[in-house]
This record gives sequence, structure tokens and C-alpha cells, in this order.
Amino acid sequence: MSTTKLIETWIRPEIRELAAYHVPDAAGLIKLDAMENPYGWPEAMVDEWLASLRAAQLNRYPDPHAQALRGPLRAAMGVPQGMEILLGNGSDEIIQMLALALHGPGRTVLAPEPAFVMYRMIALFCGLEYVGVPLREDFSLDRVAMLAAIEQHAPAIVYLAYPNNPTGNLFSRSDVEAIIEAAPGLVVVDEAYHAFAGKSFMHDLGRWPNLLVMRTVSKLGLAGLRLGLLAGPREWLFELDKVRLPYNINVLTQASAEFALRHGEVFDAQTRAICAERGRMFEALAAMPGLTPFPSAANFILLRVPAGRAGALFDGLKARGVLIKNLAGAGGLLHDCLRITVGTPEENAACLAALGELLG
Ligand code: PMP
Repeated sequence: MSTTKLIETWIRPEIRELAAYHVPDAAGLIKLDAMENPYGWPEAMVDEWLASLRAAQLNRYPDPHAQALRGPLRAAMGVPQGMEILLGNGSDEIIQMLALALHGPGRTVLAPEPAFVMYRMIALFCGLEYVGVPLREDFSLDRVAMLAAIEQHAPAIVYLAYPNNPTGNLFSRSDVEAIIEAAPGLVVVDEAYHAFAGKSFMHDLGRWPNLLVMRTVSKLGLAGLRLGLLAGPREWLFELDKVRLPYNINVLTQASAEFALRHGEVFDAQTRAICAERGRMFEALAAMPGLTPFPSAANFILLRVPAGRAGALFDGLKARGVLIKNLAGAGGLLHDCLRITVGTPEENAACLAALGELLG
């Protein structure tokens, strides 16, 4: 049998139809596409980190429960007493663990649209149905539509990113609460961008039996480590932990995260710098002809550009050495939209200068 025939026989049709998640090559470009923290560490801190890795034993499997990391991580994330945490290889892996533990015939994942694409992708990988409920024009939750969809589909999991990616806004607390109360299954409040938003549902854990809160260290400045966490009632996490691969957090990540969390002040200062730059970027973008930036509580800004010009502006920026994200292809509420991650003042200035030239 030919390879093609074998693939047609054995690879699930919904997987064959998918395009692999595309990560563009950013070599040589100013990278404002992936919500990374643009700042490195002071030289002395790098030396100290490298010295701390001397003790890491690469010949041994990692601690399956990352015991030494749990306390500092709980403290850094403000996990309330009495709540448990589950660690993942990025929050991506936590989304996958949730899908593995909850999937089944007729089971559904529900999220507002647009949302973080992995909610839909991972649902598909794991054989869950996905239901996207459009946000309103101003990117707020459509409470009536969400509640109707929850009643209709009885979703196993509802994801609410707080703030939302790619729109950058925080949903209204009362809308989120109404959804948690109406949902028959889990509601995962995904606080990937918490550092830039301040607001959180972490302290609401335990108020409802179906609320879990997800965080990541990625946007904070540690995207390379791949470390996310899910916080919530012990009983839920006990079950979810059964589908976790035993050594999902590697030795270097455990050691490096433990080290980094001892230097919280460095990340706090970087976060403050990013938030200040976000304000400046927003003002500068709003002043450019034809651009409409949307207010953001995250480390990126979504903006609408003149009709039909998103592709040309994206390409023009890339030709001038700046990589951002073109979301116009997603359609719907994202028509004519680009997303720019907030970089250093120099990177942002280069991006604004290039945009000015292109719009000129
Ligand atoms: N949630 C949201 C809302 C995100 O935007 C992202 C990353 N773009 C993630 C989760 C995944 O983060 P991680 O790096 O922890 O896998």
C-alpha cells in the first residue's frame, strides 16, 4: 500500500484537513508577534542563574511533582490557601490535559470568538466539539448568546481568557460570574496576561465548584521555559493529574523557574516598563491616520487598519524588519486587524516609524 493510501486510512480526516500551527521565521526581525517579554536579565543575574544550574542532574529524571518549585510558584501567582495547583509544559499542555480528561461522545468545548486558537485546535485534536460564540462589536461578552449556547450545548469546558487574546480586553466580572453560574461543566479562566492586567479570579477559587484559574510564566518573561499552571479545588486537580505525563516539567525548567522566581523584582520592573510602553504605543497608534487601536489590559495591542490594507501593512512592516501578527485572515470581528506585541522603547519606535512610512 502506498504511503498516501496508508495515511488516508489511518490519520483521522479532521487532522488531515488541519493546517499545522504556523510559527513564522523571525530570524533577523524585531519580534513583536508572540507576546513575549522583550527584556533579558542583568549580566550578574545571568551568571547567578548559570551557577544555579550546576547542581541540576541531567542524568536523572525530573522530580515528577516539582516539589521545590511549587511553593515559590504558588506565592508568585497568589494561589489561595486550600487550593491545589497542577503544572504543565506551558498552559498549552494544561489545555491538552483538560481535553484528555474530559472528552467523550457529544462533549463540547465552548469559548467566545475570537479567542486563543489553541482552545479550538486542542478540542479538535482530542475529539471534542468546539463551539465559538461571537463577542460583541466592542469585544465584550455577549452574555445572552453565551448563556443560550451554554444551555444548548451543555459544554464540558468553557474557556474565558482574562484578558482575552487577541482582543486584549478584560470581560466584565458580572458576565463572567453569570457564565460560571450557568455552566454545567468546568469554567477555566485563563489569566495568561495577568501581570499586565492586575484583575483576577484567583481569589474567587472555591466560590463555585466549577471554577479553575490558569496562569503561565510565558508572558511574564519566561516563555522559553514552558511552564504553566492550573489552580483550583484539590478534587478536580487530583483527577486531571492522572492524564499528566509524569516528567512533563523538565530538570532545567524546574531549576530555572525556581531561580527566576527568587528575582520577582526584576520581572515586576519589566512588567511596569511594558505597561508604560503600552500606553505610549496606544497614543501613537491612535494618532496615525486610519488606525484604530483597541484598549488593552495585556502586553499587546490589537488595531484595525483601513479596509483591505492589513496584508500590505504586515508585509511592509516585515520588509522593514518588524514582525507582527496579521489577524485579518481570521475574518469576523478581526477583519482588517493586526496585533502588535509591546516591545522595548527602541523596538516600538522602529515599528511606529515603519508604520508611519507605510501610511504616509
Ligand atoms: N492562553 C492564552 C490566552 C494565550 O494567549 C497563550 C499564548 N499565546 C497561552 C494561553 C499559552 O501560553 P503558554 O506559553 O503557557 O503555553
